[in-house]
Amino acid sequence: MTAAPPSSLPFLPFALPEIGDDEIAEVVDTLRSGWVTTGPKARRFEGDFAAFLGDDTRGERLHCIAVNSATAGLHLALEALGIGPGDEVITTTHTFTATAEVVRYLGADVKLVDIDPATLNIDPQAVEAAIGPRTKAIIPVHYAGLAADMPALLAIARQHGLKVVEDAAHALPTTCQGRRVGTLDSDVTVFSFYANKTITTGEGGMVVTRDAALAARCRTMRLHGINRDAFDRFTAKVPSWYYEVVAPGFKYNLTDIAAALGIHQLKRANAFQAQRMALWAQYDAALASLPVILPPQAREGDLHSGHLYVLRLADEAAVGRDGLIEQLFAAGIGCSVHYIPLHRQPYWRDRYALTDAQFPHSQHAYERMLSLPLYTRMTAADVDRVASAVRAALA
Ligand SMILES: *Cc1c(COP(=O)(O)O)cnc(C)c1O
Repeated sequence: MTAAPPSSLPFLPFALPEIGDDEIAEVVDTLRSGWVTTGPKARRFEGDFAAFLGDDTRGERLHCIAVNSATAGLHLALEALGIGPGDEVITTTHTFTATAEVVRYLGADVKLVDIDPATLNIDPQAVEAAIGPRTKAIIPVHYAGLAADMPALLAIARQHGLKVVEDAAHALPTTCQGRRVGTLDSDVTVFSFYANKTITTGEGGMVVTRDAALAARCRTMRLHGINRDAFDRFTAKVPSWYYEVVAPGFKYNLTDIAAALGIHQLKRANAFQAQRMALWAQYDAALASLPVILPPQAREGDLHSGHLYVLRLADEAAVGRDGLIEQLFAAGIGCSVHYIPLHRQPYWRDRYALTDAQFPHSQHAYERMLSLPLYTRMTAADVDRVASAVRAALA
């Protein structure tokens, strides 16, 4: 094992957003317009998002509801589905805590299950085994940007009468059997526009559903439980100051400042994906001969969003995961771990008396995995630099 040489190169961050002149001009336009909170740009972003997903496979309209985070969107989705105390929701342990915390917001319980080691996605067999009398919903996560096994999960959900909410925080644009995530047959899909996601609004998210009633509930609860649309429909003339509160809602609306970013980021989503996958292929080629497990690929004909490049060290590797990360940092390269599995987090572990042994595949992956930098502002030379540092550490 040779330590990577101390780097004279500038630090290469783990993630960087790519914000262009169009995004900046749109934000400035918003600032000058006098309307900075939710308004015309948020509405336009919602319309553009529905058009981007382009769902005419079923001839039904997609409802897109812009929110200030994916966490907020997941919360709204589960609330609209009526999840509450006494209910149980199944999700993967191999995710960020946001996926599961929203279940607890509603007083329901979380049932964590293991992953399929081949894909690092939630294992449908483990889901089926975890279903009990209180189970109401499944939250699959398209981990790293690779579609979860939705055909199997949707079949299980149908058979057991369960709702499905997709955590698609990593999955723009991802496809599953040729269809975009967001247009599959789940109840609701939620995207994230957090700073390091495949497109960003700084903070933000989008709730997507075909169900008009669910969409209406999400819209109402997004803004304090104010139901003006419904009121407008049934009342010929209302003064503009009048509104009705129909529930104790939340404050989850997306600002027009953020939506201004989203409008232009979305236009670049396909190009970003292609750029990410080009860098991905370069990593694969450079790392394939090392004692590593390369990240799982999308199925033939499908798109991987390329959100995270999650490398796993083989058991025979000369250095451990923590050691590799240290050496990469010493070489001026940022990297990360996605994620410390939920069964390892004190809150989840203690609340549900979880052990590592209950999640052997997630645990095994966790001990050996790290996420290498992968973003559109990286150059081929940056990828070479990272790959060389990995090679040096594993030599
Ligand atoms: C980022 C992320 C979220 C939360 O997204 P926010 O927009 O930051 O709320 C949820 N789930 C997963 C898997 C994520 O990576």
